[in-house]
Amino acid sequence: MKRQAAKAGMHPRNRFREGYDFAALTDVHPALTAFVKPNAHGDASIDYADPRAVKTLNQALLRQAYGLQHWDIPPGYLCPPVPGRSDYVHHLADLLQMRCGASIRVLDIGTGANVIYPLIGACEYGWSFVAAEVDEQAFRWGKKLIEANPKVAGLIECRRQKSSTHCFHGIIRPREHFNISLCNPPFHASAAEAAAGSARKNRNLGVSRTALNFGGQAHELWCEGGELVFIRRMIEESEDFSEACDWFTTLVSKSEHLPKLEQALKRAHVADVKIIDMAQGQKKSRILAWTFQKSRS
Ligand code: SAH
Repeated sequence: MKRQAAKAGMHPRNRFREGYDFAALTDVHPALTAFVKPNAHGDASIDYADPRAVKTLNQALLRQAYGLQHWDIPPGYLCPPVPGRSDYVHHLADLLQMRCGASIRVLDIGTGANVIYPLIGACEYGWSFVAAEVDEQAFRWGKKLIEANPKVAGLIECRRQKSSTHCFHGIIRPREHFNISLCNPPFHASAAEAAAGSARKNRNLGVSRTALNFGGQAHELWCEGGELVFIRRMIEESEDFSEACDWFTTLVSKSEHLPKLEQALKRAHVADVKIIDMAQGQKKSRILAWTFQKSRS
């Protein structure tokens, strides 16, 4: 079986852009063997609609790339595609002008049970992280996951957000400083929309089942008003932390939200805005980044 073709559009430093070497992956994580089978083109692959297969692939990728021995998610929680999440991290590194090491402090808003961004950022660039999460089960799970990986445990601190309408208040402490914040926001406007979105995703993958194929508890995937309301609130709140955090960033899954978000940034009197396009194969996304500090722009 051949290895999978490279995914177009990934960041040049993304180590997963050349596709997966399943022989090497099953070597580091034999449990993956049970899920590897040829796809329609005869290439080695897995069933991406099967959450257990995707989870096991992630375990193998994190072991192979970073030597992380322990990664898992609670049943039904969001299972992130590692290559896509890596892309965001590499773009953050570009914004930080490739500064590395533990003195670079990064804030992850909504780190999830999977704590995927801090794991990748700590391993790739040695950055230190505060990983904020509102969901209690996800928070506890994420904290245990970090503790189970001594390689990164000293670099990542988990903090519980008590208010679902706040991102920075209750997390950033007085006189604390961050170089950058990141966020993969809950993007659907309701639980029903989240379920419909996941059914659509399954149809696109050519499967008829309606289960959440990449997992995801309802509250991981939606917030009242969807990503537009969530990010708008984040922009407004960021004004209170204009000096505490040099760059604020978030994923924006729907490009039609950008004009309204740019208006909100104007109202907040930011000094600079960047929109960074990302593509992983067919899937397009973008990072919205802003700073209040004139010296950064
Ligand atoms: N970062 C992970 C999880 C993203 S899902 C990944 O990319 O896979 C979005 C997460 O944000 C969920 O875990 C949800 O519980 C959390 N969340 C929602 N509102 C939040 C808030 N105000 N502060 C912190 N976390 C929040």
